[in-house]
Amino acid sequence: MIKLKTFPGGVHPPDRKSLSVHKQIEPAVIPNVIVCPMSQHIGAPCQPRVKEGDKVKAGQLIGQADSFVSAPVHAPISGTIKAVCLAPHPIGKPVMAVTIESDGLDAWDDAIQEDLYYSRLEPKDILNRVRNAGIVGLGGAAFPTAVKLSPPKGKRIDTVILNGVECEPYLTADHRIMLEEPEKIIAGLRLIMKVLNVDRAFIGIESNKPDAIESMSKVAKGESGIYVQGLKLKYPQGAEKQLIKAILGREVPPPPCLPLDVGVVVQNAGTCLAVYEAVRDNKPLVERVVTVTGSAINDPKNLRVRLGTSFSDLIAQCGNTNGSVGKVIMGGPMMGIAQHRLDVPVIKGTSGILVLNRKEAAKQESRACIRCGQCIRACPMNLLPNLLGIYCEKGRWEDAEKLHIFDCMECGSCSYICPASRQMVHLIKLGKQEILSIQKKREAKS
Ligand code: SF4
Ligand code: SF4
Repeated sequence: MIKLKTFPGGVHPPDRKSLSVHKQIEPAVIPNVIVCPMSQHIGAPCQPRVKEGDKVKAGQLIGQADSFVSAPVHAPISGTIKAVCLAPHPIGKPVMAVTIESDGLDAWDDAIQEDLYYSRLEPKDILNRVRNAGIVGLGGAAFPTAVKLSPPKGKRIDTVILNGVECEPYLTADHRIMLEEPEKIIAGLRLIMKVLNVDRAFIGIESNKPDAIESMSKVAKGESGIYVQGLKLKYPQGAEKQLIKAILGREVPPPPCLPLDVGVVVQNAGTCLAVYEAVRDNKPLVERVVTVTGSAINDPKNLRVRLGTSFSDLIAQCGNTNGSVGKVIMGGPMMGIAQHRLDVPVIKGTSGILVLNRKEAAKQESRACIRCGQCIRACPMNLLPNLLGIYCEKGRWEDAEKLHIFDCMECGSCSYICPASRQMVHLIKLGKQEILSIQKKREAKS
């Protein structure tokens, strides 16, 4: 029996994973038209490398990354370039995107082939394949993986943590891949360990996935230096800092410090699978597993989806909605991003499409703080969310900064637990934007 570990603080929202957890991953239908934003990652957007009328094959480069912190974009299908112009994006304003009309052939670029000798590759060659494949963190953050695997000189990494927590309610994509492709995930983890010259890795999985713990443990058993660690069921157990604290007992200092400052690199289960496919098959990141679920979806599913497929196409493949849609979210209900239109494309960071019915999505009216302290006990970052909310409401920016507003990771635990339904995360997000814009104006004047 594995002893379960965890971190201080956190909350216990109902996990609602039973809607889709038993659904095997299915390939989604390849649509006739795909829209590929040039920005699907944290960092600089890519530059389009195709023009209207060009023919492309699946896996061919269509967006070049010219900066270190960026990730190239590849064609998810074969066909003809129909447009290179601004298009709607699931995270905010329209961005430059390449639209491809399918030729119905799904013909792949000749370079995408299995390399039988991939295990003999040097670390720098593995890293190059990861960079060229445009891989980013698939848990939702979409930080370029090659950058994470290139710690600055002087930073020694001693441990890799494979994040198999998937603590957001409803989402089951990582759970399914841990059940269906554990060997490939662990092979990807091994490649990451080779790049970082690390001989120890932990696989963190919450206790609500006993079958995934079993499946990953079976494969890890034959691997030296790779251990499965069961974790208590608590949100946000999958946040990097909380995962590191739970498994290793190490505290990542406040920003700008990162996990690598305590010798750790964390990679999500789906990212490890993508690394394996990139290195063994030279396959760029052109598809991912997406959970399409929620109370308003008729037939929730885990779908392997070509990037650029529209949310509406996927919802249609899940039997459409039951008619009472209250809210559509990209990701989970705690940290996901609300959507106002369904013609937006799946991007590299789309872990799920959650469609809630009106009753579930109805907002409670926010009332005055009753000083119960529940948000303080829940905050995994040891902040004072009650005061941060009040200061942001009243525009007391200096006070909010003194209370370390920028340490807030916007996990939503405080708002979730608040009996007065106060919208602290919303207020804190607005507060951060306001403080940054004041700082910019000040810098421009000086
Ligand atoms: S203050 Fe920020 S980090 Fe703390 S619980 Fe609220 S959202 Fe999470
Ligand atoms: S949980 Fe809500 S009511 Fe309680 S102290 Fe925090 S903000 Fe106030």
